[in-house]
Amino acid sequence: MGEIIQPGYIALHRAGELHARVQAAMQRLAACNLCPRACGVNRLQGETGFCRAGLLARVASANVHPWEEPPISGTRGSGTVFLSHCTARCLFCQNYPISQQGVGREMTAEQLADAMLRLQKQGCHNINFVTPTHYVPQLLAAVEIAAERGLRIPLLYNTSGYDSVETLRLLEGVIDIYLPDSKYADDEVARQLSGYQDYVQHNRAALLEMRRQVGAELVLDDKGLARRGMIVRHLVLPHGLSQTPQVLRWIAEHLSPQIHISLMAQYFPAHRAVGHPTLGRRLLAEEYEAALAALDYAGLENGWQQELECDDHDA
Ligand code: SF4
Repeated sequence: MGEIIQPGYIALHRAGELHARVQAAMQRLAACNLCPRACGVNRLQGETGFCRAGLLARVASANVHPWEEPPISGTRGSGTVFLSHCTARCLFCQNYPISQQGVGREMTAEQLADAMLRLQKQGCHNINFVTPTHYVPQLLAAVEIAAERGLRIPLLYNTSGYDSVETLRLLEGVIDIYLPDSKYADDEVARQLSGYQDYVQHNRAALLEMRRQVGAELVLDDKGLARRGMIVRHLVLPHGLSQTPQVLRWIAEHLSPQIHISLMAQYFPAHRAVGHPTLGRRLLAEEYEAALAALDYAGLENGWQQELECDDHDA
């Protein structure tokens, strides 16, 4: 347990630095290079790139979420702001109407700030930006307004981990807790299953930058709630397609063996994975057990595991 740490964006706002970040981030939209795809489209003029995100943030939902990791959801829930569109094309995406079809509604920075303040008022322990990469400028603008109006809870950046280091630098001191995925250790598999280009190098560079900003230790308050740090999530895929041993070994060797890992067993075939030759079934018990053994072998002792949900006919 540690002492209570004031969210970093409050000090940045008081120092007037948050506004400079918003300005710098907005400029990146003129030739968008927010994520590693660097499409170069002018989103200020309404052009869209690979992710299809425009000038205004599109928001699928802003709700209390009780099912994140315990230090995130606590007793009163995490205030998730679920952003529409995505920089990936995962065949197995469980949220594809939001990520691929853009379900949601456009919100101004003021409206987003109102949503965050509402979640704080509802008692949420934090604000949890889900799939935020392609909206960093819009989120910064909303945080500036919300901070002015009294937002005081920590900010989480809940990402696929396909982030550009330059964009992450805009978030230094703003984001208190990073929740990145580390999905793959093989670029070709990442390309085939998720449409990523050079996922591994970008993911690893992003994870290192996040650790530089917030450290490897997950700092908790006296109620066990996360105040600062990072949690790395890894979804175990069937047939070893997520290269779990390699992913975990890299994390232990290059980030820290102290990093908190959320090892997820919740995979089920959704979207274009239904009927797919390798992705078309849930995880087998022995596949998750192998993933747990890899976690142990890598020496990663902190974090959470899931109960495996098996379909009998799959086993
Ligand atoms: S955020 Fe979207 S438009 Fe910008 S570089 Fe990435 S995919 Fe392209």
